[in-house]
Amino acid sequence: MVLARLFGRRHADEQEQLFKAPGSSALTRWLRQGLEQGICPLCRVVHKADREYIWQFSEEGWANADTMGELVQARGFCQEHAQMLVRIDVQAKSMLGIAGVYADLFEALLERFDALDERDRTANALCPACANREQVLRQNVGYLLGLLEDDSTFTERFRTSTGLCFAHFGMIWTTGGSTGARALLLAVQRRAIAVTGDQLREFIRKEGVEARDEPKAGEQLAWKRAIERTAGWPAQPASAGVPETSDQR
Ligand SMILES: [Zn+2]
Ligand SMILES: [Zn+2]
Repeated sequence: MVLARLFGRRHADEQEQLFKAPGSSALTRWLRQGLEQGICPLCRVVHKADREYIWQFSEEGWANADTMGELVQARGFCQEHAQMLVRIDVQAKSMLGIAGVYADLFEALLERFDALDERDRTANALCPACANREQVLRQNVGYLLGLLEDDSTFTERFRTSTGLCFAHFGMIWTTGGSTGARALLLAVQRRAIAVTGDQLREFIRKEGVEARDEPKAGEQLAWKRAIERTAGWPAQPASAGVPETSDQR
């Protein structure tokens, strides 16, 4: 193992924060953070699940035989997660970590390919960070339905929220939920679609010659909100290598 000879880059107290065991209220904290940030709560879950996976991999996952085995089965990370790993090394101003990970990966892959013959049709496994994202997302869909059924404070806040991106709405919609929770999800989503549609038309109208002098307002970012709704909210642009503050955890 190339990386077994290398030292971890992070300060010990940062590592301690990263691996701090979550308390019971921690289960729904990412959903609550998403709601407070005005984004799809499940998009927030995706951002955090990705970030924590890549951080943990960067810190110690590469030294874990099972984790590296998953990476070998997948024949590497997908583009999105590989780029998160790259950003950590760029932040640390050394590509040694990532070079070590891929040195180990390629050593294992060479053995795999040496053993492969033309009759073998084994498919690649899913990128392990994508598999982790999917698992955490599924758990949180259940938590979100639970909050919408049992937590009146969350429900009232959700009622006036931006709702969900379409991918995550589809995920929760096909999962289930009580009649009340489904009615609320639908009402919030219908309102969001109508508002964005109105704002898009208003933006286009204000681009016209006759409305050019009218003051600009919320419709100016309607195109951005339309993309967020359809493609999901993007993660914060900050590098995965920069720790979030404690209240963001
Ligand atoms: Zn979403
Ligand atoms: Zn991935």
